[in-house]
Amino acid sequence: MFDAILIEKDESGQTAGLTRLDEARLPEGDVTVRVACSTLNYKDALAITGKGPVVRSFPMVPGIDFAGVVESSDHDGYRPGDRVVLNGWGVGETHWGGLAEKARVKGDWLVPLQAPFTMAQAMSIGTAGYTAMLCVMALERHGVAPGSGPVLVTGAAGGVGSVATAVLAKLGYEVAAVTGRPEQADYLKGLGAAEILDRAEFTEPGRPLARERWAGAVDVAGGQVLANVCASIRYRGTVAACGLAGGMSFPATVAPFILRGVTLAGIDSVMCPREDRLEAWRRLARDLDPAILEGITEPVALGDVVETSERLLAGQVRGRVTVPLG
Ligand code: NDP
Repeated sequence: MFDAILIEKDESGQTAGLTRLDEARLPEGDVTVRVACSTLNYKDALAITGKGPVVRSFPMVPGIDFAGVVESSDHDGYRPGDRVVLNGWGVGETHWGGLAEKARVKGDWLVPLQAPFTMAQAMSIGTAGYTAMLCVMALERHGVAPGSGPVLVTGAAGGVGSVATAVLAKLGYEVAAVTGRPEQADYLKGLGAAEILDRAEFTEPGRPLARERWAGAVDVAGGQVLANVCASIRYRGTVAACGLAGGMSFPATVAPFILRGVTLAGIDSVMCPREDRLEAWRRLARDLDPAILEGITEPVALGDVVETSERLLAGQVRGRVTVPLG
């Protein structure tokens, strides 16, 4: 038996809570992992609260991330005792996930724990941090370099935003951090932000082309914020768009793309090919100072995950939430 969060659904609606499950109920997979630590991402909070259509089959153990130790394996790449990390692949959406003491998954979905991170540190990073690195890699691929000019990060006090701010600053970029929480200015400056901007500057409909300000941007917001960000990107700059914290819509015009050669680079972490994942984790090991992880992380007990999901969606959680299980 093992502890897990279970989401169930019937005619009266969806419920989520802590429960004990029999290992015989674990889904198919060639590697069984004793989970040491999981996390709570924006997507997990949508799944647990039912506020977004994340869960595709019920009952579901949520949790798109975990780090743990292989207990048994029929996969050539893994042996009992190996320390592994999982991010995405539909785990916590279509396949039972990481908010549980045990998980059974396809070995092909796992990556080895990246030195020098501990399992807890890997989960402080989690999908949010690995996605932040995919965004940074996209900016680099499109020629945005530390000397190119200021780079904007939206939702900067959230999970993706905190890691993106820290990584970009360590790489030498001048980071302008957008937040709806001005009280987090010192936190963001501590991560390396050079400038703090009020989210309200980006939430009203703006002109198709605004003043050219940013060489690049990492956007977690989508919606009107993303439209305004695109309108203020400098000639041939790039926006890495990964989120919808401000909405699914994109009320923009093509003007920034056809008149300024702006690139909108879409970022998906879920089905991202293995080679890119391994590269992102190698880059995190090189370009993220592990010393900042404790300060951006709030550990919560498995039993507090449901309540924390509400707080996270209300924008009241700073940085990352981890769920230690070991
Ligand atoms: P968090 O909840 O940790 O952070 C989101 C942040 O967005 C908040 O902290 C807040 O930052 C800001 N925000 C909240 N509401 C709004 C709003 N209405 N308009 C603009 N900004 C807002 O979530 P994560 O960092 O984990 O994820 C951020 C987004 O990225 C989510 O939409 C998530 O689904 C997406 N995502 C996508 C991935 C992919 O593969 N494409 C992978 C991981 C995440 P502040 O208080 O500083 O303003």
